Amino acid sequence: MTAEKTESTYEKVVELAKRRGFFWPSFSIYGGEAGFYDYGPLGVMLKDNIIRIWKEAYLRENALLIDTPVLVPRAVFQASGHVDKFLDIAAECDKCHLRQKLETFTKSAGYEEVFDTVESGLSFVRDNVVKCTNCGTRITRVYDVRQMFFLPDQGSSGDLFLRPETAQGIFINFKILNNLFRGKLPMAVAQTGKGFRNEIAPRQSLIRMREFNMCEVEVFVHPEKKFWAEIEYEDDITICPRSSQPVTLNAREAVNSGIISSNAMGYFITLTQQILLKMGISRDRLRFRQHEKNELAHYSFDSWDAEAELDGNWIEITGIADRNDLRNHEKTSGESMSVSTEEGDIVPSVIEPASGVDRIVLSVLMHSLKTRENGYTVLSLPPDVAPYHAAVFPLMKKNGMDQLARKIFRSLSLNDPCVFYDESGSIGKRYARQDEVGTPYCITIDGASLEDGTVTIRERDSAKQIRIAAEELINHGLIGNPSISLDKFKNQPS
Ligand code: AMP
Repeated sequence: MTAEKTESTYEKVVELAKRRGFFWPSFSIYGGEAGFYDYGPLGVMLKDNIIRIWKEAYLRENALLIDTPVLVPRAVFQASGHVDKFLDIAAECDKCHLRQKLETFTKSAGYEEVFDTVESGLSFVRDNVVKCTNCGTRITRVYDVRQMFFLPDQGSSGDLFLRPETAQGIFINFKILNNLFRGKLPMAVAQTGKGFRNEIAPRQSLIRMREFNMCEVEVFVHPEKKFWAEIEYEDDITICPRSSQPVTLNAREAVNSGIISSNAMGYFITLTQQILLKMGISRDRLRFRQHEKNELAHYSFDSWDAEAELDGNWIEITGIADRNDLRNHEKTSGESMSVSTEEGDIVPSVIEPASGVDRIVLSVLMHSLKTRENGYTVLSLPPDVAPYHAAVFPLMKKNGMDQLARKIFRSLSLNDPCVFYDESGSIGKRYARQDEVGTPYCITIDGASLEDGTVTIRERDSAKQIRIAAEELINHGLIGNPSISLDKFKNQPS
């Protein structure tokens, strides 16, 4: 098996995703709408596994879970600064009407400038020649686009906004949550759910959407210490500190040497790496890049992005930001956000690892797409990320093989519902169909099974098989069962 050529991976994944039911563009019978995608049957299972791995990792950190509304009154986003500052500076070509972020036009003209006001953008395009990337016309029209979807004047609620992040739902509940945590710090609170952003140029399927899935954690720490726990993770991490070349080093060293500014930031960078690797992101296609000062969001002092390499481009999949939102809410709401500590009352700082689930789904699919020598596609997903853990087939639909296969399927799926039954088509076709959607094991019931209760189990990546008692699989499950660990398949026939 060889790794897929990077140039074509995105197109291959998007084609596979639509054909096999991972995801596809929404509203297609009415012409479609940019920036919206539906998850199909396999995509929902994959996405839910990714969210589960994230949730389990944070439950192991004793994080509290919360679920708050997606519609949020103006007061919350006024206090957080989003109403005034969460906007894009956009430009539109007068001739072909291409609309993009102004920075997209200026970057392709070779400029590094970042714009946070319409005035700075206008004065830049007056003083410099910036041309449309599509038709070459000089850009003159610059305007701002509010990134939050807005529902004005909703009766007694006044203005409502669709949340662009789940974080504010955690901040405004800080006191309730901290009381539940018996007033202790540090404390982590996690929330998963939809975020909405009115992107100027939604593109590349799951990468830039207008409605997307988020997994966010707000880690409340003492503002002077910013300490969570000792970093025990020994693995190396590739990091790109601000304006520097990538270096690979242990996260503890990065914190001790001051490259990463706090223990909590270092801890959650390393935890993010562990989680992303577990989800199926390739180690050699993952890095952590510190934001340049002029790139920081309005709420953040320091930020590191976990970036996945996709077709030669580095794409942010998780942002880890150092932010200070509790002070804003304390000031605006008049509610105290302070916590009593041995050193007196303090308002905690926040370290926020925020993951975009959809970008992770796409990255995991792109990193796991492989092609066999015979040209067939294999998705080498980690077994517990794959939509199905196993497929069960009768070799033939006769002599009772199908009855036994159904019986084994029912017994297996009592303990693990992520098992698929298929009796149609040749056995080779059935293997290929499962390889293409990442099913790690195929269990085949043949003539010998009728006599001695054994089945063949074929491992996806090696395409090799062993014979094993069906009871062994039923009693000990599929995921993590040592009888079917990868080494059991070595030296076996294909
Ligand atoms: P941010 O708060 O901007 O750092 O976003 C947190 C995470 O959400 C990012 O790391 C992305 O993975 C994801 N994300 C942000 N904007 C979008 C979008 N328009 N479409 C899909 N995912 C997004």
